[in-house]
Amino acid sequence: MNIAIIGGGITGLSAAYALQTTHPEIDYCLLESDARWGGKMVTATVQNGAAHPLIIDGGPDTFVTRKREVWELVHALGLAEEITPGSETRGIYVLHGGKPIKVPLNPVAFISSPILSLRGKLRMAAEPFVPARRDDADESLGEFVSRRLGREALERFVGPILGGIYNTDPNHQSILVTSPIMRQMEAEYGGLFRATFARLRQAQQAKTSPQERPPRFIGLKGGAGVLVKALVARLTGDLHLNAGVEWIAADAAGYRLSLTNGSIIHAEGLILATPANVAARLLAEVAPQAAADLAKIKHVNIGTISIAFDKAAIPPELLTMQGVMIPRRERRRIDAVTFTSNKDPTAPRKTNFWCACSLAVATPTWRASRTRICCGLCWMNCAPCWAWRRNRWSIGPSAGARATPRRRWVTWSW
Ligand SMILES: Cc1cc2nc3c(=O)[nH]c(=O)nc-3n(C[C@H](O)[C@H](O)[C@H](O)COP(=O)(O)OP(=O)(O)OC[C@H]3O[C@@H](n4cnc5c(N)ncnc54)[C@H](O)[C@@H]3O)c2cc1C
Repeated sequence: MNIAIIGGGITGLSAAYALQTTHPEIDYCLLESDARWGGKMVTATVQNGAAHPLIIDGGPDTFVTRKREVWELVHALGLAEEITPGSETRGIYVLHGGKPIKVPLNPVAFISSPILSLRGKLRMAAEPFVPARRDDADESLGEFVSRRLGREALERFVGPILGGIYNTDPNHQSILVTSPIMRQMEAEYGGLFRATFARLRQAQQAKTSPQERPPRFIGLKGGAGVLVKALVARLTGDLHLNAGVEWIAADAAGYRLSLTNGSIIHAEGLILATPANVAARLLAEVAPQAAADLAKIKHVNIGTISIAFDKAAIPPELLTMQGVMIPRRERRRIDAVTFTSNKDPTAPRKTNFWCACSLAVATPTWRASRTRICCGLCWMNCAPCWAWRRNRWSIGPSAGARATPRRRWVTWSW
């Protein structure tokens, strides 16, 4: 039997690896339209003259261990030595009225935080008394959070954080797909606060030592690209870059695939590991119902901009921040800033550079024309910058700038 795996991002690469290890008798080919493997996992290593290189993850940089897949894959590939404990949730800020406000993580900090009005705080505190939803029907993250914690919590606090992870509007984000754990907590314990306390109690009773527990988040010392490289090195199938699949048709032996490089290949089975909208187009003829369902999944375009500064130029107050989430009502062109060097505790010691990464949501106009965007750091009086289509940059005047970017990188995920 032979299988065609379409898409060489982390999903396609790990599907190939799983197939190869569990069914070595099956032949497979892996078809990737781009000139490199990894899809949204993209890591740049920059030698900046210092002893240690600067490692920039343009896409994913941290993985939650609650979802076991990455943790298990890293170990299966013998990369345990590469693991570095990822950032915890401390040091996360939300932009509010143009100013970064620290996300309160304990009741005392919450009460004194300006992030919510008194009314908003009281509404949030009433969460244990809100009746639990008992059916299995889906709802948006926005509906869930306003129902349990109130509208203000959605707009100013929980929405920017949870919605920010997916860079989408919480009112169009399925809770069952993106944060099913919150609905499980509601179903099992009747509410989020009750569930949190019950889980804390269970963790204390289980008494696992910190050494036995994996960190909640992990990163990889050499960046996420290490995972991609290790997978590609182990794959023994037929691997093709620059081989986008244009269409798929059914034939007597299975499927016929037409590739962008002009060749036609046959496969008895398919694994689709492309974004859902591409899969919908490819399956239109051979699986119309699946194609119609996949076409319903909404996508947003996103780019990341990584900017390196001289470490000496960074104001001390920034060295404790890990990231700033930016709610839509702040009307910025970016959704978040991650202070990469603060997120990876080993990074600042490794290099003279200090790095921040902005997540920018791309609009159709952005693609069509040169558009000014904020690098996200303007509230700290930093140099404004301009992004110009893919990988083109110029830097604007830095009047009053306290830190001038030294290096920049742009990645895009369409
Ligand atoms: C900026 C950013 C930050 C993120 N941060 C995190 C994080 O910190 N932690 C985390 O867990 N997740 C994070 N994610 C999400 C994570 O990156 C993705 O979930 C994951 O990389 C998706 O992998 P994939 O292989 O499914 O898809 P992709 O990476 O999109 O791969 C799909 C591949 O299919 C190829 N392809 C498309 N069409 C065709 C075709 N017709 N023929 C052949 N090949 C085709 C594409 O070129 C691509 O290589 C982040 C995502 C982004 C964009």
